Amino acid sequence: MVLRVAVVGSGPAGSSAAEVLAKAGIETYLFERKLDNAKPCGGAIPLCMVSEFDLPPEIIDRRVRKMKMISPSNIEVDINLDNQDEYIGMCRREVLDGFLRDRAAKLGAHLINGTVYQLDIPTNNTDPYTLHYADHSNGERQGIMKTLKADVVIGADGANSRIAKAIEAGDYNYAIAFQERIRLPEAGMQYYEDMAEMYVGNDVSPDFYAWVFPKYDHVAVGTGTMKVNKTKIKNLQAGIRARAAHKLVGGEIIKVEAHPIPEHPRPHRVRGRVALVGDAAGTVTKSSGEGIYFAAKSARMCAETIVETSNCGQTIPNEQDLQLYIKRWDKKYGMTYLVLDLLQRVFYRTDATREAFVEMCSDKDVQRLTFDSYLYKTVVPANPLTQMKITAKTIGSLLRGNALAP
Ligand SMILES: Cc1cc2nc3c(=O)[nH]c(=O)nc-3n(C[C@H](O)[C@H](O)[C@H](O)COP(=O)(O)OP(=O)(O)OC[C@H]3O[C@@H](n4cnc5c(N)ncnc54)[C@H](O)[C@@H]3O)c2cc1C
Repeated sequence: MVLRVAVVGSGPAGSSAAEVLAKAGIETYLFERKLDNAKPCGGAIPLCMVSEFDLPPEIIDRRVRKMKMISPSNIEVDINLDNQDEYIGMCRREVLDGFLRDRAAKLGAHLINGTVYQLDIPTNNTDPYTLHYADHSNGERQGIMKTLKADVVIGADGANSRIAKAIEAGDYNYAIAFQERIRLPEAGMQYYEDMAEMYVGNDVSPDFYAWVFPKYDHVAVGTGTMKVNKTKIKNLQAGIRARAAHKLVGGEIIKVEAHPIPEHPRPHRVRGRVALVGDAAGTVTKSSGEGIYFAAKSARMCAETIVETSNCGQTIPNEQDLQLYIKRWDKKYGMTYLVLDLLQRVFYRTDATREAFVEMCSDKDVQRLTFDSYLYKTVVPANPLTQMKITAKTIGSLLRGNALAP
């Protein structure tokens, strides 16, 4: 037998899973409803993703080496990456997603331009799943209804995942992110050439941060907030536009977009022979709202587990086999999620804690630790003396602004 795996969605998650499966000789079907999809996204990726996912240099539009953290009272802290080999990559999602998808197809994944509408779950443990989809390969939006049978299904269909609904994976809390793409006059674009800005404050978000990120030929200006505050999102966007107004003079809005960002994993990420990866599973990290790398990584780990437990596609893996991917994921990244969740709870609470947060970011040791963990996804423990210094500074910053008051 040859194992058949259907991957629904070809964002960073779906294509990364399909690549691993196709390389192993597994019959892989990769569904994408919109081949030119430009996912609403800041497009920032860590340096380690470039090498780990073998991304060619042209995928990166801009290499950010300067970060500005801006406190509620507009105190600015500059964080610079002095090593020219280090940068935060800024990419256009349509370019990144297109590259990963085409690579998976070249390696043998069957790319289907189709929208999956329904997943029939078999009553028997070994019977295949049936996917119902509209095939758009004739160029029509409505498409032609077709079905496909698969032994294993990977749900990589993002935050509004139909596959998650089909397997009753349960809901997650989410944030809503709003973003305007603004084309600036030349001088404005030059300022943001290799610079990204993060703004904190109640006026721009009660529980997250707002940003100005440089993109290919424009800047992305946006903010996010938890679902409970979603009716305030336009006021918060007005907040970040006001804070950055002097740098956005003469800007022309070329696109307005919004999308949910999962806040934590779904109650069930595997059911039967269906596994969820990326945003469908809820792999975005708190504090930073970073999801591209974790989507691609979770999907790769899931696919590798399928290759291993099916003996390169010679047997059908069962639920227990797929659960192994979740165990491995939680073991590798569980602590990262916990720490970033804690940071968000402590520092994005009030304007006083946000002032403390920005003050803390002026410390060189804190900057190095933060950059290392973001760029390389490795938490390298600082030496005990530095650790003590950082802890003392953190407490000092919090106490100074009376930020620890209830
Ligand atoms: C405004 C905003 C800014 C962000 N900025 C950043 C950032 O700077 N850096 C970062 O790391 N993360 C950022 N994120 C998070 C990041 O965008 C996501 O975590 C990431 O896209 C998740 O990838 P994914 O492959 O899991 O899902 P997605 O990228 O959502 O991909 C899902 C794919 O599935 C397809 N699809 C969906 N349903 C179906 C279906 N039924 N049939 C067929 N195909 C289907 C979609 O068309 C899409 O191509 C941001 C998010 C938002 C909303």
